[in-house]
Formats: sequence, C-alpha cells, structure tokens
Amino acid sequence: MIVLQNISKYYYTDTSVTQALRKINLEFKIGEFVAITGESGSGKSTLLNVISGMDAFDDGEMFFCGEPTFQYDAADWENFRRNEIGFVFQNYSLIGHYTTLENIKSALLIMGYQEEEAARQAVTYLEKVGLKGMEKQRASELSSGQKQRLSIARALAMNPEVMLFDEPTSALDPEMVGEVLDLMKELAEDGMTMVAVTHEMGFAREVGTRVLFMDEGVVLEQNTPYEFFSSPQMDRTKEFLSKVL
Ligand code: ADP
Ligand code: MG
Repeated sequence: MIVLQNISKYYYTDTSVTQALRKINLEFKIGEFVAITGESGSGKSTLLNVISGMDAFDDGEMFFCGEPTFQYDAADWENFRRNEIGFVFQNYSLIGHYTTLENIKSALLIMGYQEEEAARQAVTYLEKVGLKGMEKQRASELSSGQKQRLSIARALAMNPEVMLFDEPTSALDPEMVGEVLDLMKELAEDGMTMVAVTHEMGFAREVGTRVLFMDEGVVLEQNTPYEFFSSPQMDRTKEFLSKVL
C-alpha cells in the first residue's frame, strides 16, 4: 500500500547536515503489522514522519496505493494526512481540558461530520478502546494508559488506511503498558495495517508480521519476527538485541 523508493531525508542546521534517512527502500502491505526498532537517533521517527506525510523527503519517491506522490500539492498532502493516516505519538497530543468525548468529536467535526453523528461515533470509538462510561472525564484527568487509548480512539475515528505509532508505550507508567499493547494487538487481529516504532520486543515478536531494525538512517535488517529474534544476521542487530532482550 505504501512503497518507499530510495528515500533520503536531510536535516540542516547552521553548522551541520544530518542525513536522517539514507536511500530507504521499503514496502508496507495491507494488513501487515511492522514493528520498527533501533537505537535512539537511527531515524525511526523520521521514517514515520515521512510515511505520514508530516515531513517532506529530499530524494526518492513514495507511492501510495500504486500512485507516486510527486504530483501531490499541499492540499493533497493535507488530505493524505487526514484521511489515510492515523498517528499515535508517545505523548498523546490530546486536548487536556476537553472531555474524552470532545477529543474525538472535535476531530470528527473537522472531518465534516454533523454534530449528532460525530457524538454517536465518538461514543462508539470510546467503547472500542475500553473507555465506555468515561465520556465526561477530562482528558487531563485520565491515567497515562487511558490517555494513550483515547489518542488511539481519536486516530481510529478518522478511519485511516494505516495506523502509525511512535513509541506509544514509552511515556506510560509501567503498569499501563499492557492495556495499550492489548488494544494494539486487537487492532492487528482486526486486520488494521500498522507500523509501530517500539522497544517492546516481546510484543513485536508475538504480534508483528515483520520486524525492522534501523541503524544510522538505513534499514539494516528486516525479517519475520521468528527469524529476526532467533537468528539476527547483522552484528549491529545482535548487539542491540543483546541489550534490549
Ligand atoms: P529516532 O526516532 O530513531 O530516535 P530520529 O528520526 O528522531 O531518530 O532522528 C534521526 C537523526 O536526525 C538524528 O541524528 C537526529 O538528531 C536528527 N534529527 C531529527 N529531527 C531533527 C530536526 N528536527 N532537526 C535536526 N536534526 C534532526
Ligand atoms: Mg524517535
């Protein structure tokens, strides 16, 4: 569904240039759950930001459903981000003083839904992520796990083709991690196409259809979870796994 061909991305500062992505070639197919791991600074977030259309790339081409994106103008990218991609961040990006219901409803209103239908759908999505009965709670008053489940609900409500997660459990209180991973597992089982940057290797092994290891802006290794964890090929992958497993 999404194909990256020779994608490169540079960050320029006054004094330096960082190549965050180096000629990345990747394909994400419908129904896949790709788990991405790697050291801090290896380009994982940059990759997700490029896939989501939030960040422009400098070289190469990205295809969506077989169509090249080189002809996308600003409005097309806006449309792509809004309609095709659900993005879940480490730090939720919720509106704290809004209720759980309003957080989802406001997104649906922007999408053009009428008031009543937006409210109805918001309730359905709250239910889906296990927040039924909490419609009137302010987002700021939720536990870290509930906040993340709410941000997943809001992303799902936009009915995206693919869900992207950037370290969705790294900011959570440890006892809340399980409830968010369980929800992600449910989505994967429902057939949702997902790409997640995560260091939860047990989860990646159990739920992922593919695991990808990034190192210095390249995809150094990718394989089925079984192969990836049982016989990693590259020294850098082995070294990384020996630290996180
Ligand atoms: P990861 O998510 O794997 O930790 P990132 O994609 O955030 O890695 O970063 C990849 C590289 O790009 C790092 O060297 C980082 O310092 C650099 N980088 C990321 N974002 C910016 C930015 N906005 N400006 C300058 N450099 C950046
Ligand atoms: Mg990151």
